[in-house]
Amino acid sequence: MPSNITKPKCTWDARPRTPLDYLYSNVLDGREAKDALEKLSSYIQIKTVSSEDPDYNGVGVFLGNYARELGLEFKKVQLPDFPEKPFYLLTLPGRNTKLPSILLMSHTDVVPAPAQDWIVDPFSGHIDDDEGKVYGRGTQDMKSVAIQYLEAIRQIVKRYWQHLEEMHRDTDQVENTRKSGSARSGEYLSSPLERSVHLLFAPDEEIRSSVMSTFLDTELFKSLQVAFALDEGCASCSSFYWLHYAEKTRVLAKFKVTGKPAHSASLQANSTGQRFAKLLSFLYNERNIQEKLMLAKKETSSEVITINVTMVSGGVQENMIPPELEATVDIRFPPKYSYPEINRLLEEWCRQAGPGVSFVDQRAVSAQSVCPCPCPNETAVVEPAATDKWWTLVTGALEKHLAPPQSVRYKAAVFPGASYAQFLRARGVPCIGFSPIANTPVLPHAENEFVYTKEFLRGVAVYIDIISDLANSAF
Ligand SMILES: [Zn+2]
Repeated sequence: MPSNITKPKCTWDARPRTPLDYLYSNVLDGREAKDALEKLSSYIQIKTVSSEDPDYNGVGVFLGNYARELGLEFKKVQLPDFPEKPFYLLTLPGRNTKLPSILLMSHTDVVPAPAQDWIVDPFSGHIDDDEGKVYGRGTQDMKSVAIQYLEAIRQIVKRYWQHLEEMHRDTDQVENTRKSGSARSGEYLSSPLERSVHLLFAPDEEIRSSVMSTFLDTELFKSLQVAFALDEGCASCSSFYWLHYAEKTRVLAKFKVTGKPAHSASLQANSTGQRFAKLLSFLYNERNIQEKLMLAKKETSSEVITINVTMVSGGVQENMIPPELEATVDIRFPPKYSYPEINRLLEEWCRQAGPGVSFVDQRAVSAQSVCPCPCPNETAVVEPAATDKWWTLVTGALEKHLAPPQSVRYKAAVFPGASYAQFLRARGVPCIGFSPIANTPVLPHAENEFVYTKEFLRGVAVYIDIISDLANSAF
């Protein structure tokens, strides 16, 4: 590395200059687009079904090669308690390593894909040029997002070098710097971006193991000083993108209804069954209210409370009024309600249905080691409002794509499922869930999951802006 290189002020900007440049074909040339799609196909081919002996080491080889190609730092992290569940951390160090970093989160595992339900081999990563689609388990959830992050970083680094070459056309300094290994090794401009960008590839998201929680408590994670994270979001069958600023909180309530056992030929007053019926009437009454709310406001279920009885058990013998009946009820609520508020409601139902009626939140009891739940939303600090600096940066980057022909719109929403974002939020890391997959049937966990190549490539262009704006923010 030559030491006599001068340090010009950085005027470099990764973003294309004119609205028309946003055409994905201008962002990635034909060769790059083809390579990016092949990368996605190769990633799909690494079979990482978390419940079926996932090939996480294969992921490591793939990402190690990718990191070398892009000049990124690469780390394999194996936690002592989970040697078979490696994390991979790829880093593009920023110019100012004192600034907290940006985290691009993705999970490496996928759910099973029974081959008989598919029109192609779900792990072939089949690219259908006629239909303009890439098929495979994980194309939506969420291997496409991981490749989009990486391809956006590739473009950001490439444009940085092009900029340096334009500035120093008549010297061989750029070439010397390039030869020395990576984008970060230059001394006059140490990195294309101000903040460091970390790409974290995490295992076992689909089976909710406690490995992520353990990782987030390591000194390594703390040393990354993450200021803000992006994680997965929902695909959208319309022309807009979803931006998820929070997740629903889940209460897994096990209701216990007790009463005096008696002969089932009697009409015993206030029997166990009557209390049980009363409790169910409260549950289903609230469920009906929430359903009406959802339909009236044309909202998705992510904006209302969902309540479903999922398991029922009890009874001793067919001719006995049972001394005990139990019901497991899955309740999920958006952040406009609080955990204590929901708890009070359940307690009130028990009181009115009782005596002898009580409940326990199974998730709060069993999930202590998984996550400091049950209130992850209380620390979800991204607000979907102009006053929130992270929200403004992400939406501002998206708005640069508002010009036709690549018009992009977005909607704020609570994530209807669960993702690793809740673990980050629970530790105070603001996080937005976002997958740039619009105009596409929503197929995570479904048969014949695919992404359109056009949408996939547009997502790369969108991430160039989002990542650049996040990592160049100075607050
Ligand atoms: Zn996912």
